[in-house]
Amino acid sequence: MKIEHGRTGAPSRVGEADTFSGRVMLDPLLEAGNGEVRINSVVFSPGGRTFWHSHAGGQVLIVASGHGMVETKEGDRELLNPGDVVWAPPGEVHWHGAAPDSFINHTAISLGTADWAGQVDDEHYGAVFAGEYDGPNDAVYDEE
Ligand code: MN
Repeated sequence: MKIEHGRTGAPSRVGEADTFSGRVMLDPLLEAGNGEVRINSVVFSPGGRTFWHSHAGGQVLIVASGHGMVETKEGDRELLNPGDVVWAPPGEVHWHGAAPDSFINHTAISLGTADWAGQVDDEHYGAVFAGEYDGPNDAVYDEE
């Protein structure tokens, strides 16, 4: 056992533009096993999101606050709300991020390397939330 009082990750940083869209802030909490286990507290501004990607060993997301979405390349998607826990299996291509009108803060426990693919473009992102979003200000996105 090893107990860390504080962080052993790298300094906090803004998410890189080649892997994140919008404003994303990453706070590395722990990096262990020569980089095989990485824990980040991630804050996405409204509309902020990851690119499509997968994790070699899978990933756990634990939503601390706010609202957002996770979606697989196959189109399986779930709204994210505080307390939700997501398991993304090894190699499953997905994205995650904030709703259009809400921050989201999730803890990401990532196993193995991440394989980044293309951007979740604005058209796709908008379609995901159109008509089915039931967030705090969902009236803005309901189909009329
Ligand atoms: Mn992920």
